[in-house]
Amino acid sequence: MADASLTALYQDIILDHYRRPRNKGTLEHATISVPMRNPFCGDEITLELEMNGDQISDVRFTGRGCSISQASTSMMTEMVKGKRVSEIGHIGERFRAMIMGDADAATDDALGKARALAGVARFPARVKCALLAWNALERGLAQSAEQNTAETRDTET
Ligand code: ZN
Repeated sequence: MADASLTALYQDIILDHYRRPRNKGTLEHATISVPMRNPFCGDEITLELEMNGDQISDVRFTGRGCSISQASTSMMTEMVKGKRVSEIGHIGERFRAMIMGDADAATDDALGKARALAGVARFPARVKCALLAWNALERGLAQSAEQNTAETRDTET
C-alpha cells in the first residue's frame, strides 16, 4: 500500500527532526527573539532571528513540546535560513494552506520535507502545534519590519 508506506516515511522524517532538531540553541547576535506558546498542548518555543535587512542571516530556537511542534519548528528553521522576507511569505502561506487541508499545497515542492506534516490536517487538535513555529516567525518578521521602519525614521529626522 503506497499510502501506508508514504505515511511511514513521513513519520520517520518527523521523528528525525524531533530527536535531532536542526538549528536548536541560541544566537550570540540575535536581533529578534520571540517566545510563543501553544497552551492547548503545552508546546513552547523561543525563536531567535538574526536579520540582515530583509534577510534572515541566521536562526535558532529553544523549546519543548510534542513531536509535531518541535519537528515543525526544526523544519521551518531549515526552510527560512538565508532567505528573504518576500520568499518566506510565500512558503509560510503554502505551509498554512497545507496544514488546513489544501491538497495542492501538500504537493508543493517549495515546502520540501515539511510536506511530511501534511497529515496534521486530519487532526484539528494538532494544527496549532504545527503552526506554532510559523506564528512565531510571522511575529518576529513583523517586529523586524517595525525596527527597520524606526531606524529609517531616526536617520531621516
Ligand atoms: Zn503540540
